[in-house]
Amino acid sequence: MTVTNWAGNITYSAAEPYRPRSLEELRALVAGAAAVRVLGSGHSFNEIAEPGAGGVLLSLDALPAGTDVDTAARTVRVGGGMRYAELARRVHAHGLALPNMASLPHISVAGSVATGTHGSGVGNGPLGDAVREVELVTADGSTVVIGRDDARFGGAVTSLGALGVVTALTLDLEPAYEVEQHLFTELPADGWDFETVAAAAYSVSLFTDWRDPGFRQVWLKRRTDQPLTAFPWAVPAKVALHPVPGMPAGNCTEQFGVPGPWHERLPHFRAEFTPSSGAELQSEYLLPRRHAERALRALHEVREAVAPVLQTCEVRTVAGDRQWLSPSYGRDTVAVHFTWIEDTASVLPAVRRVEEALEPFEPRPHWGKVFTTPAEVLRERYPRLGDFRRLVAELDPAGKFTNAFVRRVLGGGGA
Ligand SMILES: Cc1cc2nc3c(=O)[nH]c(=O)nc-3n(C[C@H](O)[C@H](O)[C@H](O)COP(=O)(O)OP(=O)(O)OC[C@H]3O[C@@H](n4cnc5c(N)ncnc54)[C@H](O)[C@@H]3O)c2cc1C
Repeated sequence: MTVTNWAGNITYSAAEPYRPRSLEELRALVAGAAAVRVLGSGHSFNEIAEPGAGGVLLSLDALPAGTDVDTAARTVRVGGGMRYAELARRVHAHGLALPNMASLPHISVAGSVATGTHGSGVGNGPLGDAVREVELVTADGSTVVIGRDDARFGGAVTSLGALGVVTALTLDLEPAYEVEQHLFTELPADGWDFETVAAAAYSVSLFTDWRDPGFRQVWLKRRTDQPLTAFPWAVPAKVALHPVPGMPAGNCTEQFGVPGPWHERLPHFRAEFTPSSGAELQSEYLLPRRHAERALRALHEVREAVAPVLQTCEVRTVAGDRQWLSPSYGRDTVAVHFTWIEDTASVLPAVRRVEEALEPFEPRPHWGKVFTTPAEVLRERYPRLGDFRRLVAELDPAGKFTNAFVRRVLGGGGA
């Protein structure tokens, strides 16, 4: 038997993940192993979750999937294996909501915040912004709790899984709200400015295939408790759309301005649609939002290398946050995402062309996707990387959770 990630481009060395049924079993497994990694829902596209030969791959899906909603404090404590779709249903039943969601609700909460996963919106930080406390089982099997007032918190959420097993997270909630999706087509390349378009709704996504100038689709997700902004630059969609041309729109959340609960509109894809093994690879680069228009022009220059291996490119925004390893750390961000075809050998040259084109704008790659950015460049891009290395050394001195991916991106040498 082999275990692969969702896209099937990574086969983990472990024949099967261990599935502890209790916290005690989990502690004993961690304490007794030389190398450990947790596999969340496996939606990353690189070897970030690989423990290395002989290491233990853990799945938390047999642990009790608890959620503990505190309606007065507006918080929820979730287990380390919980996925967003299930979490959203549970908090919505209490009249509460998360501030934002990613495009796919099937991803795990702990795995998502570990890689800096985000949705869109000029006022919305990454999903990890909602985290107020992290509970970890560390290398010796003991529990460490790190809350927002702890000096170590800046490294605890977007941690690449390098600190220990996240057994629970406590997240901030807000009162439930409704969202409408208004979709448009044919946004031309010129005649609008990025800041205005990106701020036209609570969450905005622009899609292009880089075959023609401009954007084929614009998705505006408007909270019904916020004003409706005119969008005169593009054409209202006449039919339901999927972000990838030719794919069935029935997999997508309800469109045409029909109001609905936040968790059935913020993701692009329906929770009840079962995404099979994904015939795709993904890359994403996050750079300062003030460079958005120049960066998009630079990508237009390399479109002939990109378009033949591209399914769709999505442009979103993320507000700056304070997690040391977050790709939006300390800067309001534009995130340029690429859904590629599934052929790694054909895709990698295009990935490199994109990285070269974006280099003047100091892009930070999404930790869960395909990138080739070397450690010395990452070190320049992350001013708190040394603090993160020191935190790893404190919590995991023997490097039990430091796999080859983490070694590659954090680089060697002192902090
Ligand atoms: C179809 C699709 C759509 C996507 N949409 C978006 C999007 O809208 N926005 C975006 O930013 N990204 C998006 N992604 C990327 C995705 O959100 C990230 O790759 C995310 O990390 C996936 O979470 P996961 O649980 O599958 O993580 P995995 O790939 O399973 O793991 C990621 C990392 O988290 C660690 N980890 C997981 N659980 C734990 C735990 N309990 N304790 C310690 N470490 C843990 C793993 O060891 C690994 O290092 C998308 C991916 C796909 C396939």
